[in-house]
Amino acid sequence: MSHHTASIAGIPAITLPSGRLLLDGELVEPCNPARTIDAIDPTTGTRIMSFPACGREDVERAVQSAHRCFESKAWQGMRPLDRGRLLENLALLVERHRDDLAALESLDSGKLLAVTSAIDLQFTIDGLRYFAGWASKINGEYVTHNPLVPENAVYRAYTQRRPIGVTGGITPWNFPIGQAIQKIAPAIAFGCTVVLKPSEESSLTALRLGELIAEAGFPAGAVNIVTGYGADAGTALVEHPLVRKIAFTGSTATGQSILAASAATMKRVTLELGGKSPTIILADADLDRAIPGAAAAIFSNSGQICTAGSRLLVEDAVYDRVMDGVAQIASALRLGSPFDQATQIGPLISMRQRERVSSLVDAGVAEGAQIVAGGTAGEGAGWHYRPTVLANVTPDMTVMREEIFGPVVCATRITDRAQIVPLANDTPFGLAASIWTRNLDHAHLLAERIEAGTVWLNTHNVLDLAMPFGGSKLSGLGREFGSEAVHAFTEPKAVCMRLEGADDFG
Ligand code: NAD
Repeated sequence: MSHHTASIAGIPAITLPSGRLLLDGELVEPCNPARTIDAIDPTTGTRIMSFPACGREDVERAVQSAHRCFESKAWQGMRPLDRGRLLENLALLVERHRDDLAALESLDSGKLLAVTSAIDLQFTIDGLRYFAGWASKINGEYVTHNPLVPENAVYRAYTQRRPIGVTGGITPWNFPIGQAIQKIAPAIAFGCTVVLKPSEESSLTALRLGELIAEAGFPAGAVNIVTGYGADAGTALVEHPLVRKIAFTGSTATGQSILAASAATMKRVTLELGGKSPTIILADADLDRAIPGAAAAIFSNSGQICTAGSRLLVEDAVYDRVMDGVAQIASALRLGSPFDQATQIGPLISMRQRERVSSLVDAGVAEGAQIVAGGTAGEGAGWHYRPTVLANVTPDMTVMREEIFGPVVCATRITDRAQIVPLANDTPFGLAASIWTRNLDHAHLLAERIEAGTVWLNTHNVLDLAMPFGGSKLSGLGREFGSEAVHAFTEPKAVCMRLEGADDFG
């Protein structure tokens, strides 16, 4: 296949996707090629290429193909080890194109090349291998049966974990290729087939992934990739009766509408949604680690991380030192191109996102928050926003309640330790938290009482494919990763049989 390329000074030419969809094992044109979405480079605001804005007809084709594959004898009879092998084949292909994919991700999303190379692509390759290993390790249970009425018969009972069926994966723009694999790899490992709809803001690596999947030897229809807007392709996937499960990552509002729409067809759903995670610094913390840790917790990826430490709760005795330290780091971080090695903060994904961040900061100031660093957009063509520290933020302010999804941290002084748990939990979200202290007892006692899917002690934003990931409260439903992923993509089937003739053997 011949590809167009994009050029960025100082790095090898970046391969652009052909823009074709992966449907039924083939790379094909959409039903209506005239409907397209422009991929915009957030660093320059310029158009990279256009890709299909799919509608219901394309989703229909994708779901039918996933359904045919799921029902086929070949798929049902495939050895689990061989399903794992498909993922391993894809891991090898992604590895071969790693640098090119990392550069494409940086071009399309504005994420630093140092990060896409070291983290996003590593997560993608690791994720494929991690779930490849799971394919052959899905077991049911032997169950000791208790007949309600004792009788002269023997019962034997066991459970199987059966794949749910066709799954729809819908992903956001902050971690595009990694999220694509987070939906595709467990689905395939656990015996489901999948239709992926990546974010319209950053679909290019998913389209390239489709090209690699077409090469990797997957049975036709096992994985399908359709691009498009949430309101068209996304809702078509959610409403389709042959889609048995939606694995969604994105905003809480969209998650709520997906959950409501899923009721009609009783779809299984896992929802990985937004957060407003606290970074809690106790007076006895090692500040040489806690201060840079708190800054990295919010400013990494320009704050566009669902688990970003966006509420900074600091004990009075160290509050001023922590605020000075975090503000100094914020002011010193270098904004720039994701391809420049000196850059520490890349642009936000879109102009719209920058406007949202900026208006939330303005609302915070209007409600009485004080800006101690940042608070303005970056200069130049890109959609940068300066790392921002807001002090004197109270729990009722909009900036403290809403997810900003930008490089903005809201700080509160803690004058009484008894306030820590109520303050940390005073949010509709429950995704993550970090606690910084040298006191092991306090670390574990607090970890138990904070309402969050993940609690980090003396670190933040450390993801591990072997650990269950997800949120409580409005941060989501269900868990992905680790052994919990088995539950997310399979359902138990109870099998019970009555054996006659026990007396025949004396
Ligand atoms: P979003 O909800 O706007 O979009 C996410 C995806 O949903 C996109 O592919 C979009 O096209 C699709 N979509 C939109 N409306 C839809 C509808 N009605 N039906 C079906 N699909 C629809 O989210 P975003 O702005 O792209 O991403 C940012 C959000 O994602 C933040 O809230 C962030 O916290 C969250 N996020 C959560 C996690 C996590 O694991 N918890 C990880 C990353 C991002």
